[in-house]
Amino acid sequence: MTPKAAGAVATYVLDCEESMGRTFDIGLDALNGSLRPKAEPALLADQDLSRRGTFFLETFGCQMNEHDSEKVAGVLLARGYQQVETPDAASVIFYNTCSIREKAAQKVFSRLGEFREKQHEGKIIGVLGCVAQQEGEDIFKRAPWVSLVCGSASYRKLPELLAQLESGNHRVTGLDTDTDETFETEVTRRDHPWRAYLTIIEGCDKACSYCVVPYTRGPERSRASEAILREVRQVADAGYTEVQLLGQTVNSYADPTVRKMKFSELLLAVADVPGIRRVRFTTSHPRDFTQDIVDAIDAEPKVCEHVHLPVQSGSSRVLREMQRTYTRAGYLEKIAMIRAAKRAIAITTDIIVGFPGETDADFDQTLSLLDEVQYDGIFSFKYSPRPNTPAMSMPDAIPEEEKSRRLAMLQERQREIQIAHNKSQIGKTFEVLVSGKSRREGQWSGYTSSHKVMNFTSQAAELLGTYVQVKATDATPNSLQGEHVA
Ligand code: SAM
Ligand code: SF4
Repeated sequence: MTPKAAGAVATYVLDCEESMGRTFDIGLDALNGSLRPKAEPALLADQDLSRRGTFFLETFGCQMNEHDSEKVAGVLLARGYQQVETPDAASVIFYNTCSIREKAAQKVFSRLGEFREKQHEGKIIGVLGCVAQQEGEDIFKRAPWVSLVCGSASYRKLPELLAQLESGNHRVTGLDTDTDETFETEVTRRDHPWRAYLTIIEGCDKACSYCVVPYTRGPERSRASEAILREVRQVADAGYTEVQLLGQTVNSYADPTVRKMKFSELLLAVADVPGIRRVRFTTSHPRDFTQDIVDAIDAEPKVCEHVHLPVQSGSSRVLREMQRTYTRAGYLEKIAMIRAAKRAIAITTDIIVGFPGETDADFDQTLSLLDEVQYDGIFSFKYSPRPNTPAMSMPDAIPEEEKSRRLAMLQERQREIQIAHNKSQIGKTFEVLVSGKSRREGQWSGYTSSHKVMNFTSQAAELLGTYVQVKATDATPNSLQGEHVA
């Protein structure tokens, strides 16, 4: 895991060591501690704070978890709590966690162990997010020094839960999964300086046989289109020019209002908000990926030319066992639809290796899929058995060493594809939203519309948050190098 500089919120990018998708997660901006979110209230120095009413929030997980932490901070800041940079300065320590793979869930408990003695200092220790939802009250048994457990659908209740603890309760929980309260949670601080995240759909109604999300985030609930557009106008007024719409299956969005706005219409409506220059969305499910989404990207340059379309496996047999609801051929039809667009849309994906019963022949099909699709990036994972999931009890588990071997082979194949692809971009000019400034003089970084990291040189005095034209002059598997041309 890689610590990410994100204001005062300690954030970790999900299992980067398993991912070729590094490119799509962190750039120089993540390494540059000098960056500060625009809409962030000033953080108070530790000595200015009394021990009551201060919180420290640490986050592990995906973008949705990161955005959840922004909402938690928003709820607490709006109730007068103050956010601090260290557990020592806090009266409440929150740990917002991911449980998508066992390794991530285990990390939670080892981290909680480190907080153990803090309880004796009178601090409240709370577990939030997917692990909270999944383990529920069992967390109190494994870590009795924890006094608050709250899943993502109940964050608005946090001040109330804290009040209950302060009035003498020893243990409190917020574990409902079918509320949509989190949608309208205040977001008063955003940890990404140049990109505003917005959840448009919560939970998941798919039933992939390996996945805990339907258990930890509950059923699918879409947010009203007017509420989404209202928030987009707010972030645009606050100075953000790029928004990223989030959902476990973002393109399954179904507007609950009479307006019945389709996902592709929503993309265009968001792009139309004055001040917005880029619209991103993740994660798309192949089953619900339709021609009108490609048409929206083609029609509106502000909708970014990048689709993250997780495939999970190249073998139709494994896809059936995973209950992914599409075959290899069906997935490739979606790829062909995207490739037929007028714009050169970058495609990235998620892949699981070592699913129970995955044969060498199945795995070869995943390798050949990489060759066929030529992804711009992949996030790759070893299958991890998760509680309550059907795959947990499937026969023919693949040994850990074999999973590691397949993962290494997959990543090596993808590395070759990425280096060849990135080299083919040399000489082209890209619009880059500048989000990082190196300590080295004249070195900057940012993202292209296709979400490639561009490291570049410029003699300009200040570029952060601006859009510049950069000509690519060199390439690595994970980034482009270039020079500022306008
Ligand atoms: N909703 C998205 C989709 O349908 O592709 C994915 C959301 S999930 C949070 C992100 C990725 O984690 C998945 O695409 C999958 O590759 C990986 N993942 C989920 N469960 C896993 C498991 N049990 N073992 C390994 N990887 C897993
Ligand atoms: Fe999990 Fe499948 Fe839902 Fe994605 S679509 S969140 S992998 S159940």
